[in-house]
Amino acid sequence: MKYDVGIIGSGPAGLSAAIYAKRANLSAVVIEKEYEGTGQIAESGQVDNYPGFPGISGYDLGENFREHAVKLGVSFMEQEVTEIKKEASSDFELVFADGSQVEAKTVIYAAGATPRRANIPGEQEYAGKGVSYCAICDGSFYRGKSVAVLGGGDTALDDAVYLADVAEKVYVIHRRKEFRGAAVTVAKLREKENVIFVLEHQVKEIIGEQKVTGVVLEDAAVIDVNGVFVAYGAVPQTDLLKKFAVLDDSGYVRAGETGETALEGLYVAGDAKTKKLRQVVTAVSDGANAATAVAEYLK
Ligand code: NAP
Repeated sequence: MKYDVGIIGSGPAGLSAAIYAKRANLSAVVIEKEYEGTGQIAESGQVDNYPGFPGISGYDLGENFREHAVKLGVSFMEQEVTEIKKEASSDFELVFADGSQVEAKTVIYAAGATPRRANIPGEQEYAGKGVSYCAICDGSFYRGKSVAVLGGGDTALDDAVYLADVAEKVYVIHRRKEFRGAAVTVAKLREKENVIFVLEHQVKEIIGEQKVTGVVLEDAAVIDVNGVFVAYGAVPQTDLLKKFAVLDDSGYVRAGETGETALEGLYVAGDAKTKKLRQVVTAVSDGANAATAVAEYLK
């Protein structure tokens, strides 16, 4: 069978694309590597910024999206796509790790990006119990508490600005003296009394008792905090698209609002796309836009 659209990735962007594709009467298949909850969102303890569902758990919100897609009759395949083939103006062939493949007239690429991990002891153990990769998602749980932001890029600096209005104390821990992020944000942070810069230091361990209680620096000094926001950048999951010359220098798929890429028939939605705000709400918006653009293209 040749699908109208093969959707790679089953996070909020992929599921939203599937819902819109189904409602546009397209045959759609969602391909997911391994079903472990709905993408990155399943790792967020609580989601407090998705309109209409204050305080819902990330896992439950993802499951709601999935149930919605299933109810509409979206097909799912648990397969790892190892290659995307497309000759000039032909359809797409999606090749799977087990050697099988499916054909699709178009592809919506929604495989997302993963936050770069710090790869230090305690990080995995306390994920969701004080360790977070998203200040906008989880910051409000640290009202009146102390947090550490790790990193010196724009994400870390923006996170620190956001958290300084919520938390009692914000430690910005960065391995160098110079920041990769905007000087204007650094200046803004320096004016805030509750922001403490810990520069030329690196966190080597996150410690706790059921929940995070502190971070240990490489000189063994301990800073007591209730939350750790790792902002070491993100890694877009776009290796499969490298050969098509649709990526920017950081590996994100270049596209505007419709998700249309430079390769005919290939659309992108969610965190793998070039954009400023990577959130559930923007991912589902991307999915809707991409599926609508696909429906128009196929017409
Ligand atoms: P980034 O620019 O890659 O910064 C990552 C930061 O984490 C760097 O300061 C880096 O240190 C540090 N880091 C990475 N791995 C580390 C490790 N193992 N140990 C210690 N430190 C580590 O990532 P980002 O801040 O997420 O930004 C990504 C892109 O999005 C950038 O182009 C950024 O400008 C853009 N962005 C823009 C905005 C905005 O315009 N408001 C907001 C967010 C992001 P070093 O500096 O020493 O390498």
